[in-house]
Amino acid sequence: MNWFEETLYREVGQRFVVGQILYREKTEHQDLVIFENPVMGRILALDGIIQTTERDEFIYHEMLTHVPILAHGGVKRVLIIGGGDGGMLEEVLKHPVEKCTMVEIDRAVVDLSIKYLPSICGRAFEDKRTDLIIADGLKYAAETSDKFDIIIVDSTDPMGPGEVLFTTQFYTDCRRCLNPGGLLVTQNGVPFFQAEELRMTRGRLKPLFKDVACYVAAVPTYYGGFMAFGWGTDNAEARRQPVEAIRKRFQTARLETRYYTPDLHVGAFALPKFVGDLIA
Ligand code: SAM
Repeated sequence: MNWFEETLYREVGQRFVVGQILYREKTEHQDLVIFENPVMGRILALDGIIQTTERDEFIYHEMLTHVPILAHGGVKRVLIIGGGDGGMLEEVLKHPVEKCTMVEIDRAVVDLSIKYLPSICGRAFEDKRTDLIIADGLKYAAETSDKFDIIIVDSTDPMGPGEVLFTTQFYTDCRRCLNPGGLLVTQNGVPFFQAEELRMTRGRLKPLFKDVACYVAAVPTYYGGFMAFGWGTDNAEARRQPVEAIRKRFQTARLETRYYTPDLHVGAFALPKFVGDLIA
């Protein structure tokens, strides 16, 4: 048996039988591999860390798109920073948005996801509402004059090229790029093992936004229990929408989901005590 051993942590971790390596390359930015596993389907890993799998990608992508979009209620323009596999883009485009800009640093991730992971990105990159920009998200946020209703930071972990997407500078620029009432949401790791990442992001968002919060979802291949999502906005109403309002918007959007439900949307902000204590 050939195993892929995730290297995110030294002392604990997960491994996956490698059925077949579909592609492996040291790109300009990171070590990229796409391989088949009999249980999880095709898996994308960057720098030894699992990014997404065909079997459970829907959980993470549904929760980092439908929660902010349905909480906002009137989204026209979305910005995704990272997200090269296209899963986030595909979920955003299920909404009647005018445009979704995606700023991904590594073109190889996009090209190889289109080729090997069509079950994740679908035809999202061909959608006329998609505006794909190959650039460093930090640089883009500092320089763009475009404004967005939702900014989704679908980055790798805070190491390598993804590190800059966890800085105060980046969050300050994201704030500048939000329309009135806009929301910033971030992938914030697994607090059971990456408590510092959540605490750090919280500390950097707090001075920038009136409402800073966190919500969770359990993604099997983000090893260690709940994954946390950061939330920053001056639109304090967004997080306080009653479930009836979310249910109505969900029905109007006619979304097909496999993880997200309006009840789960509201419930996801109820945090396990140790997570709440981390960001108290
Ligand atoms: N779901 C994964 C997770 O939670 O770790 C993230 C998936 S997605 C593949 C992460 C993407 O962020 C990758 O395509 C990577 O190339 C991109 N990325 C990393 N650093 C970046 C940066 N500074 N600017 C833009 N994209 C970046």
